[in-house]
Amino acid sequence: METTLCAACRKAVLPVVESRTEAYPVRGETIEVEAQVAVCPECGEDMSVEELDRVTLHRAFAEYRRRHDLCSPETIREIREKYGLSQRAFSLILGWGEITVHRYEAGSIQDAAHDAQLRMAADPRNMALLLAANGSRLTPRQRAQLENALSGGREEATAAHDEYERLFGDRGSADEYSGYRFFDFAKFSEMVVYFAGLPRMFRTKLNKLLFYADFLSFKYSTVSMSGARYLAFERGPVPQHYDWIAEALEERGDIRTLEWTDGHKSGDVFQSTRAADTSVFTEFELRILEFVGSRFARMTSKELVDLSHAEKAYSETAPKRMISYHWAGELSVSLEG
Ligand SMILES: [Zn+2]
Repeated sequence: METTLCAACRKAVLPVVESRTEAYPVRGETIEVEAQVAVCPECGEDMSVEELDRVTLHRAFAEYRRRHDLCSPETIREIREKYGLSQRAFSLILGWGEITVHRYEAGSIQDAAHDAQLRMAADPRNMALLLAANGSRLTPRQRAQLENALSGGREEATAAHDEYERLFGDRGSADEYSGYRFFDFAKFSEMVVYFAGLPRMFRTKLNKLLFYADFLSFKYSTVSMSGARYLAFERGPVPQHYDWIAEALEERGDIRTLEWTDGHKSGDVFQSTRAADTSVFTEFELRILEFVGSRFARMTSKELVDLSHAEKAYSETAPKRMISYHWAGELSVSLEG
């Protein structure tokens, strides 16, 4: 620290640095951070030292991001660099203004919608969709660069397609009915294993929990969790190919079916035989699974059926037809409450 003129006592002093908790307003929220503050040793007044103030503000922003589960500037840069894109090209492919990514990487806080788009763009399959939609905004050289970076991602998408075809006899696609994701069998399996680890997981109940997990994921991140498609059946939304998948999981020994009886009532209950492999989920997806698990754990199948029947996603879809994820925004359930 250099000798600085104190604005209060007008003496040239060597500031003393103190640590203390300070409250900073960030986007209308009060964030408390451990701040390094310069103090005048002569009169005891605070002195403004730009570099220290910057560090404190950076900490306050970081804490705000952590609270709201927003990507850090470092993560944003990593996503961009994965595709070999400049800040400008990355902004354009996302459909934003030219300097938006530059601002975020420099520390400005992105809003929730932009954050969701950034997370989506981290998946090469989604980036391929963005390239198709916004590719004309790039120069030919930038486009070639991105296509080259995506060829690895395309192989992954092709592999997912092949797996889907092997399982279900068609190629599958990423559209509004799959929540803009190719069906991810491994991830869907872990969702089933996760929920089947909860007590008394009846088939109907399990189907509703899967529906809420996928649709809540879409509601907050504009992409589903598993890419599963849901059909509007009599007892609420049911994942497509559901029986086939449950059978495959049972055959593999990941879950087992038990008969449950209580007086005159009886039914099949799923039980997982191992813990779910949570490494296939993002932190945000895990939060959704935990939320869905705890929120609905004590509800009966009947209550869940009624709840799902009241969702527009269900009531606005013709019987036995596929449900569009575009209804996710209207879900009666939200992560906050
Ligand atoms: Zn002073």
